[in-house]
Amino acid sequence: MDAELGSRGVETVCQTCEVELDRIAEVAMLTEQDLELLRQPRRRINANIPVRMDDGSVEVFPSFRVQYNDARGPMKGGIRFHPAVDEDEVDELAFLMALKCAVVDIPFGGAKGGVQVDPSALSTGELERLSRAYISEFQDDIGPQTDIPAPDVNTDGQVMAWMRDEYEQVVGRQTPGVITGKPPGLGGSKGRTTATSLGGAEVLDAFLETVDIGGDSPTVAVQGFGNVGSHLTKFLHERGYDVVAVSNADGGLHDASGLAVPALFDEHADTGDLVAAEATEIPNEELLTLDVDVLVPAAIEDQITEENMADIRADAVLEMANGPTTPTADEYLSAHGVPVVPDILANAGGVTVSYFEWVQNTTNEYWTVDRVQEKLRAQMATAFEAVAQVKAEGDGTRSWREAAYTRAVDAVLQAETYRSNIPER
Ligand code: GLU
Repeated sequence: MDAELGSRGVETVCQTCEVELDRIAEVAMLTEQDLELLRQPRRRINANIPVRMDDGSVEVFPSFRVQYNDARGPMKGGIRFHPAVDEDEVDELAFLMALKCAVVDIPFGGAKGGVQVDPSALSTGELERLSRAYISEFQDDIGPQTDIPAPDVNTDGQVMAWMRDEYEQVVGRQTPGVITGKPPGLGGSKGRTTATSLGGAEVLDAFLETVDIGGDSPTVAVQGFGNVGSHLTKFLHERGYDVVAVSNADGGLHDASGLAVPALFDEHADTGDLVAAEATEIPNEELLTLDVDVLVPAAIEDQITEENMADIRADAVLEMANGPTTPTADEYLSAHGVPVVPDILANAGGVTVSYFEWVQNTTNEYWTVDRVQEKLRAQMATAFEAVAQVKAEGDGTRSWREAAYTRAVDAVLQAETYRSNIPER
Protein backbone atom coordinates (compact mmCIF):
# COMPACT_ATOMS: atom_id res chain seq x y z
CA MET A 1 0.00 0.00 0.00
CA ASP A 2 1.23 3.47 -0.85
CA ALA A 3 0.60 5.34 2.34
CA GLU A 4 1.41 8.97 2.88
CA LEU A 5 2.60 10.07 6.26
CA GLY A 6 0.23 12.19 8.31
CA SER A 7 1.12 14.99 10.70
CA ARG A 8 2.28 12.46 13.32
CA GLY A 9 4.93 11.04 10.97
CA VAL A 10 3.06 7.76 10.45
CA GLU A 11 0.08 6.80 8.36
CA THR A 12 -2.96 8.50 9.77
CA VAL A 13 -5.98 6.78 11.21
CA CYS A 14 -8.10 8.32 8.46
CA GLN A 15 -5.95 6.55 5.93
CA THR A 16 -6.89 3.39 7.78
CA CYS A 17 -10.50 4.42 7.26
CA GLU A 18 -9.96 5.09 3.60
CA VAL A 19 -8.03 1.89 3.06
CA GLU A 20 -10.71 -0.09 4.86
CA LEU A 21 -13.49 1.65 2.95
CA ASP A 22 -11.75 0.77 -0.30
CA ARG A 23 -11.22 -2.80 0.91
CA ILE A 24 -14.88 -3.34 1.70
CA ALA A 25 -16.14 -1.36 -1.30
CA GLU A 26 -16.73 -4.51 -3.30
CA VAL A 27 -18.35 -6.74 -0.66
CA ALA A 28 -20.49 -3.91 0.72
CA MET A 29 -21.26 -2.86 -2.86
CA LEU A 30 -20.28 0.75 -2.24
CA THR A 31 -20.82 3.13 -5.12
CA GLU A 32 -18.58 6.12 -5.82
CA GLN A 33 -21.38 8.22 -4.37
CA ASP A 34 -21.41 6.20 -1.13
CA LEU A 35 -17.64 6.57 -0.84
CA GLU A 36 -17.82 10.29 -1.48
CA LEU A 37 -20.34 10.66 1.32
CA LEU A 38 -18.36 8.53 3.77
CA ARG A 39 -14.89 9.94 3.13
CA GLN A 40 -15.70 13.47 4.28
CA PRO A 41 -17.01 14.82 7.59
CA ARG A 42 -20.24 16.79 7.40
CA ARG A 43 -18.79 19.73 9.35
CA ARG A 44 -15.49 20.81 10.86
CA ILE A 45 -15.46 23.61 13.40
CA ASN A 46 -12.09 24.97 14.46
CA ALA A 47 -11.39 27.63 17.06
CA ASN A 48 -8.44 29.21 18.82
CA ILE A 49 -9.63 29.64 22.38
CA PRO A 50 -8.05 32.18 24.77
CA VAL A 51 -7.86 31.11 28.41
CA ARG A 52 -6.72 33.20 31.39
CA MET A 53 -3.84 31.45 33.16
CA ASP A 54 -3.15 31.63 36.91
CA ASP A 55 -0.30 34.13 36.42
CA GLY A 56 -2.64 36.56 34.63
CA SER A 57 -1.34 35.84 31.13
CA VAL A 58 -3.61 34.55 28.37
CA GLU A 59 -2.86 31.39 26.41
CA VAL A 60 -4.57 30.48 23.15
CA PHE A 61 -5.46 26.80 22.60
CA PRO A 62 -6.20 25.34 19.13
CA SER A 63 -9.52 23.52 19.51
CA PHE A 64 -11.61 21.34 17.24
CA ARG A 65 -15.01 19.72 16.83
CA VAL A 66 -15.60 17.49 13.82
CA GLN A 67 -19.15 16.31 13.13
CA TYR A 68 -18.74 13.39 10.79
CA ASN A 69 -22.18 11.96 10.17
CA ASP A 70 -25.62 12.26 11.78
CA ALA A 71 -27.74 10.12 9.50
CA ARG A 72 -28.48 7.68 12.36
CA GLY A 73 -28.99 10.22 15.14
CA PRO A 74 -27.32 13.14 16.94
CA MET A 75 -23.57 13.49 16.51
CA LYS A 76 -21.71 11.74 19.36
CA GLY A 77 -18.12 11.57 20.53
CA GLY A 78 -15.59 12.51 23.15
CA ILE A 79 -13.35 15.53 23.68
CA ARG A 80 -9.63 14.85 23.94
CA PHE A 81 -7.07 17.08 25.68
CA HIS A 82 -3.63 16.19 24.31
CA PRO A 83 -0.60 18.04 22.89
CA ALA A 84 -0.77 16.00 19.64
CA VAL A 85 -4.40 16.88 18.86
CA ASP A 86 -4.84 18.40 15.39
CA GLU A 87 -7.51 18.60 12.70
CA ASP A 88 -6.35 15.38 11.00
CA GLU A 89 -6.57 13.40 14.19
CA VAL A 90 -9.99 14.72 15.17
CA ASP A 91 -11.29 14.02 11.65
CA GLU A 92 -10.16 10.46 11.86
CA LEU A 93 -11.48 9.85 15.34
CA ALA A 94 -14.86 11.36 14.36
CA PHE A 95 -15.09 8.92 11.46
CA LEU A 96 -14.40 6.03 13.82
CA MET A 97 -17.17 7.27 16.17
CA ALA A 98 -19.71 7.24 13.32
CA LEU A 99 -18.85 3.62 12.56
CA LYS A 100 -18.63 2.65 16.24
CA CYS A 101 -22.15 3.85 17.04
CA ALA A 102 -23.42 2.01 13.98
CA VAL A 103 -21.62 -1.23 14.78
CA VAL A 104 -23.24 -1.48 18.22
CA ASP A 105 -26.51 -0.15 16.83
CA ILE A 106 -27.07 2.85 19.06
CA PRO A 107 -29.03 5.72 17.52
CA PHE A 108 -26.20 8.22 17.22
CA GLY A 109 -23.96 9.55 14.52
CA GLY A 110 -20.27 10.27 15.02
CA ALA A 111 -18.22 13.30 16.08
CA LYS A 112 -15.06 14.09 17.99
CA GLY A 113 -13.55 17.09 19.75
CA GLY A 114 -10.12 18.00 20.92
CA VAL A 115 -7.90 20.67 22.37
CA GLN A 116 -4.18 20.89 21.67
CA VAL A 117 -2.94 21.12 25.25
CA ASP A 118 -0.83 19.28 27.76
CA PRO A 119 -3.36 19.11 30.61
CA SER A 120 -0.73 17.91 33.10
CA ALA A 121 0.85 21.37 32.83
CA LEU A 122 -2.38 23.12 33.90
CA SER A 123 -3.60 23.90 37.41
CA THR A 124 -7.10 22.73 38.35
CA GLY A 125 -8.40 26.28 37.88
CA GLU A 126 -6.82 26.53 34.42
CA LEU A 127 -8.26 23.14 33.45
CA GLU A 128 -11.72 24.25 34.55
CA ARG A 129 -11.48 27.55 32.63
CA LEU A 130 -10.31 25.70 29.49
CA SER A 131 -13.15 23.15 29.78
CA ARG A 132 -15.73 25.91 30.20
CA ALA A 133 -14.21 27.97 27.38
CA TYR A 134 -14.47 24.99 25.01
CA ILE A 135 -18.20 24.74 25.68
CA SER A 136 -18.93 28.45 25.44
CA GLU A 137 -17.00 28.50 22.14
CA PHE A 138 -18.91 25.53 20.64
CA GLN A 139 -22.26 26.20 22.39
CA ASP A 140 -24.20 26.66 19.15
CA ASP A 141 -22.86 23.45 17.69
CA ILE A 142 -23.70 21.04 20.52
CA GLY A 143 -26.92 20.02 22.28
CA PRO A 144 -28.79 16.87 23.35
CA GLN A 145 -30.45 16.52 19.94
CA THR A 146 -27.56 17.78 17.82
CA ASP A 147 -24.12 16.78 19.12
CA ILE A 148 -23.36 15.18 22.49
CA PRO A 149 -19.74 15.24 23.71
CA ALA A 150 -18.20 12.86 26.26
CA PRO A 151 -14.82 12.06 27.83
CA ASP A 152 -11.83 10.87 25.82
CA VAL A 153 -8.06 10.83 26.44
CA ASN A 154 -7.25 13.09 29.46
CA THR A 155 -10.83 14.25 30.10
CA ASP A 156 -12.96 12.76 32.87
CA GLY A 157 -16.18 13.10 34.86
CA GLN A 158 -15.09 16.35 36.51
CA VAL A 159 -14.37 17.93 33.13
CA MET A 160 -17.80 16.77 31.90
CA ALA A 161 -19.40 18.26 35.03
CA TRP A 162 -17.83 21.69 34.35
CA MET A 163 -18.89 21.42 30.73
CA ARG A 164 -22.51 20.56 31.60
CA ASP A 165 -22.61 23.45 34.06
CA GLU A 166 -21.17 25.88 31.50
CA TYR A 167 -23.69 24.82 28.85
CA GLU A 168 -26.57 25.26 31.30
CA GLN A 169 -25.33 28.72 32.27
CA VAL A 170 -25.24 29.68 28.61
CA VAL A 171 -28.69 28.31 27.67
CA GLY A 172 -30.32 29.12 31.03
CA ARG A 173 -31.92 25.75 31.75
CA GLN A 174 -31.09 22.25 33.00
CA THR A 175 -29.83 20.17 30.06
CA PRO A 176 -28.23 17.01 31.46
CA GLY A 177 -28.32 15.19 28.10
CA VAL A 178 -25.95 17.68 26.47
CA ILE A 179 -22.94 15.66 27.54
CA THR A 180 -22.27 12.12 28.79
CA GLY A 181 -19.65 10.62 31.08
CA LYS A 182 -20.72 12.95 33.90
CA PRO A 183 -20.22 11.85 37.50
CA PRO A 184 -23.19 9.79 38.78
CA GLY A 185 -23.89 12.59 41.28
CA LEU A 186 -24.53 15.02 38.41
CA GLY A 187 -26.65 13.05 35.97
CA GLY A 188 -24.00 10.51 35.00
CA SER A 189 -24.79 6.84 34.54
CA LYS A 190 -23.64 4.26 37.01
CA GLY A 191 -21.16 1.97 35.30
CA ARG A 192 -19.99 4.54 32.71
CA THR A 193 -16.38 4.75 33.97
CA THR A 194 -15.79 1.02 33.60
CA ALA A 195 -18.02 0.57 30.53
CA THR A 196 -15.37 0.61 27.79
CA SER A 197 -13.36 -2.04 29.65
CA LEU A 198 -16.35 -4.23 30.49
CA GLY A 199 -17.44 -4.08 26.85
CA GLY A 200 -13.91 -5.04 25.77
CA ALA A 201 -13.81 -8.00 28.16
CA GLU A 202 -17.16 -9.22 26.81
CA VAL A 203 -15.95 -8.94 23.22
CA LEU A 204 -12.69 -10.74 24.04
CA ASP A 205 -14.55 -13.61 25.75
CA ALA A 206 -16.86 -13.96 22.74
CA PHE A 207 -13.97 -13.68 20.26
CA LEU A 208 -11.86 -16.35 21.97
CA GLU A 209 -14.81 -18.73 21.79
CA THR A 210 -14.64 -18.49 17.99
CA VAL A 211 -10.89 -19.06 17.57
CA ASP A 212 -8.39 -21.57 18.83
CA ILE A 213 -6.27 -19.20 20.92
CA GLY A 214 -5.36 -19.16 24.58
CA GLY A 215 -6.89 -22.24 26.23
CA ASP A 216 -8.30 -21.91 29.77
CA SER A 217 -6.16 -19.06 30.94
CA PRO A 218 -5.09 -16.88 28.00
CA THR A 219 -2.04 -14.68 28.53
CA VAL A 220 -2.55 -10.97 27.92
CA ALA A 221 -0.35 -7.88 27.70
CA VAL A 222 -2.11 -4.54 28.19
CA GLN A 223 -0.50 -1.32 26.94
CA GLY A 224 -1.91 1.70 28.80
CA PHE A 225 -3.03 1.90 32.42
CA GLY A 226 -5.47 4.79 32.13
CA ASN A 227 -9.21 4.41 32.63
CA VAL A 228 -9.59 1.79 29.90
CA GLY A 229 -6.42 -0.28 30.39
CA SER A 230 -6.59 -0.41 34.19
CA HIS A 231 -10.24 -1.49 34.42
CA LEU A 232 -9.75 -3.99 31.62
CA THR A 233 -6.79 -5.51 33.48
CA LYS A 234 -9.02 -5.97 36.52
CA PHE A 235 -11.94 -7.48 34.55
CA LEU A 236 -9.66 -9.88 32.67
CA HIS A 237 -7.92 -10.97 35.87
CA GLU A 238 -11.32 -11.61 37.50
CA ARG A 239 -12.34 -13.70 34.47
CA GLY A 240 -9.30 -15.97 34.75
CA TYR A 241 -7.02 -14.41 32.15
CA ASP A 242 -3.33 -14.34 32.93
CA VAL A 243 -2.29 -10.68 32.66
CA VAL A 244 1.49 -10.94 32.24
CA ALA A 245 2.32 -7.32 31.38
CA VAL A 246 0.94 -3.81 31.80
CA SER A 247 2.39 -0.39 31.05
CA ASN A 248 1.78 3.30 31.30
CA ALA A 249 3.50 6.18 29.50
CA ASP A 250 6.59 5.75 31.72
CA GLY A 251 7.12 2.05 30.95
CA GLY A 252 5.87 -1.40 31.77
CA LEU A 253 6.05 -4.44 34.02
CA HIS A 254 6.34 -8.03 32.90
CA ASP A 255 5.98 -11.29 34.82
CA ALA A 256 5.71 -14.35 32.58
CA SER A 257 3.97 -16.27 35.37
CA GLY A 258 1.24 -13.61 35.69
CA LEU A 259 1.19 -10.26 37.49
CA ALA A 260 -0.31 -10.04 40.99
CA VAL A 261 -3.10 -7.79 39.74
CA PRO A 262 -4.83 -6.87 43.06
CA ALA A 263 -1.52 -5.79 44.64
CA LEU A 264 -0.67 -3.84 41.50
CA PHE A 265 -3.92 -1.90 41.89
CA ASP A 266 -3.37 -1.20 45.60
CA GLU A 267 0.07 0.22 44.85
CA HIS A 268 -1.22 2.23 41.87
CA ALA A 269 -4.07 3.69 43.93
CA ASP A 270 -1.61 4.70 46.68
CA THR A 271 1.30 6.04 44.62
CA GLY A 272 0.11 6.34 41.00
CA ASP A 273 3.06 4.11 40.09
CA LEU A 274 3.09 0.69 38.49
CA VAL A 275 4.89 -1.58 40.96
CA ALA A 276 4.64 -5.36 41.33
CA ALA A 277 6.82 -7.79 43.25
CA GLU A 278 8.63 -10.32 41.00
CA ALA A 279 7.91 -8.30 37.85
CA THR A 280 10.62 -7.06 35.49
CA GLU A 281 10.53 -3.48 34.23
CA ILE A 282 10.26 -3.30 30.45
CA PRO A 283 9.93 -0.43 27.99
CA ASN A 284 6.61 0.04 26.19
CA GLU A 285 8.07 -1.14 22.86
CA GLU A 286 8.98 -4.47 24.44
CA LEU A 287 5.48 -4.98 25.84
CA LEU A 288 4.10 -4.77 22.31
CA THR A 289 6.33 -7.60 21.11
CA LEU A 290 5.78 -10.07 23.99
CA ASP A 291 4.87 -13.64 23.13
CA VAL A 292 1.32 -13.61 24.52
CA ASP A 293 -2.05 -14.92 23.41
CA VAL A 294 -3.64 -11.48 23.25
CA LEU A 295 -2.02 -8.07 22.92
CA VAL A 296 -4.23 -5.18 24.02
CA PRO A 297 -3.16 -1.68 22.92
CA ALA A 298 -5.25 0.51 25.25
CA ALA A 299 -3.36 3.81 25.08
CA ILE A 300 -3.34 5.96 21.94
CA GLU A 301 -3.20 5.55 18.17
CA ASP A 302 -0.32 4.42 15.94
CA GLN A 303 1.31 1.88 18.26
CA ILE A 304 1.55 -1.12 15.92
CA THR A 305 3.22 0.23 12.82
CA GLU A 306 5.48 -0.69 9.92
CA GLU A 307 8.39 -0.35 12.35
CA ASN A 308 7.37 -3.10 14.75
CA MET A 309 4.74 -5.20 12.93
CA ALA A 310 7.19 -7.98 12.07
CA ASP A 311 8.14 -8.26 15.76
CA ILE A 312 4.58 -8.76 17.03
CA ARG A 313 4.43 -12.25 18.56
CA ALA A 314 0.89 -12.14 19.99
CA ASP A 315 -1.65 -14.56 18.50
CA ALA A 316 -4.37 -11.89 18.44
CA VAL A 317 -4.82 -8.15 19.03
CA LEU A 318 -7.76 -6.49 20.84
CA GLU A 319 -7.82 -2.77 19.98
CA MET A 320 -9.02 -0.92 23.07
CA ALA A 321 -7.43 2.39 21.98
CA ASN A 322 -8.79 4.16 18.91
CA GLY A 323 -6.64 3.49 15.84
CA PRO A 324 -3.67 1.76 17.51
CA THR A 325 -2.80 -0.26 14.36
CA THR A 326 -1.73 1.52 11.16
CA PRO A 327 -3.12 0.27 7.82
CA THR A 328 0.11 -1.38 6.69
CA ALA A 329 0.52 -3.13 10.04
CA ASP A 330 -3.13 -4.19 9.97
CA GLU A 331 -2.71 -5.72 6.54
CA TYR A 332 0.53 -7.39 7.58
CA LEU A 333 -0.99 -8.94 10.71
CA SER A 334 -4.01 -10.20 8.77
CA ALA A 335 -1.75 -11.74 6.13
CA HIS A 336 0.25 -13.44 8.88
CA GLY A 337 -2.80 -14.97 10.52
CA VAL A 338 -2.99 -12.60 13.51
CA PRO A 339 -6.63 -11.54 13.93
CA VAL A 340 -7.18 -7.94 15.03
CA VAL A 341 -10.46 -7.24 16.84
CA PRO A 342 -11.05 -3.66 15.69
CA ASP A 343 -11.50 -0.61 17.90
CA ILE A 344 -14.97 0.22 16.58
CA LEU A 345 -16.21 -3.03 18.10
CA ALA A 346 -13.78 -3.72 20.97
CA ASN A 347 -14.01 -0.31 22.65
CA ALA A 348 -17.64 0.53 21.87
CA GLY A 349 -18.79 -0.21 25.45
CA GLY A 350 -18.03 3.38 26.50
CA VAL A 351 -20.27 5.06 23.99
CA THR A 352 -22.91 2.38 24.54
CA VAL A 353 -23.23 3.38 28.20
CA SER A 354 -23.03 7.03 27.10
CA TYR A 355 -26.21 6.26 25.14
CA PHE A 356 -27.74 4.68 28.26
CA GLU A 357 -26.79 7.84 30.18
CA TRP A 358 -28.49 10.03 27.58
CA VAL A 359 -31.62 7.82 27.78
CA GLN A 360 -31.62 8.17 31.60
CA ASN A 361 -31.18 11.96 31.29
CA THR A 362 -34.01 12.12 28.79
CA THR A 363 -36.47 9.98 30.81
CA ASN A 364 -35.25 11.21 34.21
CA GLU A 365 -35.31 7.63 35.44
CA TYR A 366 -31.98 6.35 36.75
CA TRP A 367 -30.81 2.74 36.61
CA THR A 368 -28.84 0.49 38.97
CA VAL A 369 -25.31 -0.50 38.00
CA ASP A 370 -26.54 -4.07 37.54
CA ARG A 371 -29.14 -2.94 35.03
CA VAL A 372 -26.60 -0.84 33.13
CA GLN A 373 -24.09 -3.67 32.97
CA GLU A 374 -26.66 -6.26 31.98
CA LYS A 375 -27.84 -4.07 29.11
CA LEU A 376 -24.24 -3.36 28.11
CA ARG A 377 -23.37 -7.05 28.01
CA ALA A 378 -26.42 -7.76 25.86
CA GLN A 379 -25.64 -4.91 23.44
CA MET A 380 -22.02 -6.01 23.03
CA ALA A 381 -22.96 -9.67 22.56
CA THR A 382 -25.48 -8.77 19.86
CA ALA A 383 -22.95 -6.55 18.08
CA PHE A 384 -20.26 -9.22 18.26
CA GLU A 385 -22.59 -11.87 16.85
CA ALA A 386 -23.67 -9.57 14.03
CA VAL A 387 -20.05 -8.83 13.10
CA ALA A 388 -19.14 -12.54 13.32
CA GLN A 389 -22.01 -13.28 10.96
CA VAL A 390 -20.83 -10.72 8.42
CA LYS A 391 -17.35 -12.20 8.69
CA ALA A 392 -18.69 -15.72 8.09
CA GLU A 393 -20.66 -14.56 5.03
CA GLY A 394 -17.46 -13.71 3.18
CA ASP A 395 -15.26 -16.19 1.38
CA GLY A 396 -13.43 -16.90 4.62
CA THR A 397 -10.79 -14.26 4.03
CA ARG A 398 -12.64 -11.26 5.49
CA SER A 399 -10.85 -9.76 8.50
CA TRP A 400 -12.69 -8.79 11.69
CA ARG A 401 -12.11 -5.16 10.77
CA GLU A 402 -13.58 -5.63 7.31
CA ALA A 403 -16.61 -7.36 8.81
CA ALA A 404 -17.17 -4.64 11.42
CA TYR A 405 -16.73 -1.86 8.85
CA THR A 406 -19.14 -3.59 6.48
CA ARG A 407 -21.85 -3.81 9.15
CA ALA A 408 -21.31 -0.21 10.23
CA VAL A 409 -21.14 1.29 6.77
CA ASP A 410 -24.28 -0.60 5.72
CA ALA A 411 -26.18 0.86 8.67
CA VAL A 412 -25.01 4.43 8.00
CA LEU A 413 -25.81 4.19 4.30
CA GLN A 414 -29.21 2.67 4.97
CA ALA A 415 -30.08 5.72 7.09
CA GLU A 416 -28.73 8.02 4.38
CA THR A 417 -30.95 6.23 1.86
CA TYR A 418 -34.06 6.62 4.05
CA ARG A 419 -33.23 10.31 4.25
CA SER A 420 -32.84 10.39 0.48
CA ASN A 421 -29.32 11.70 0.74
CA ILE A 422 -28.27 8.91 -1.59
CA PRO A 423 -30.32 6.92 -4.10
CA GLU A 424 -31.85 3.55 -3.24
CA ARG A 425 -29.08 0.98 -2.62
N1 GLU B 1 -14.31 8.67 23.86
C1 GLU B 1 -15.00 7.41 23.86
C2 GLU B 1 -14.78 6.68 22.55
O1 GLU B 1 -13.85 6.96 21.82
C3 GLU B 1 -16.46 7.53 24.24
C4 GLU B 1 -17.27 8.44 23.41
C5 GLU B 1 -18.67 8.71 23.97
O2 GLU B 1 -19.03 8.17 25.00
O3 GLU B 1 -19.38 9.49 23.32
O4 GLU B 1 -15.48 5.76 22.23
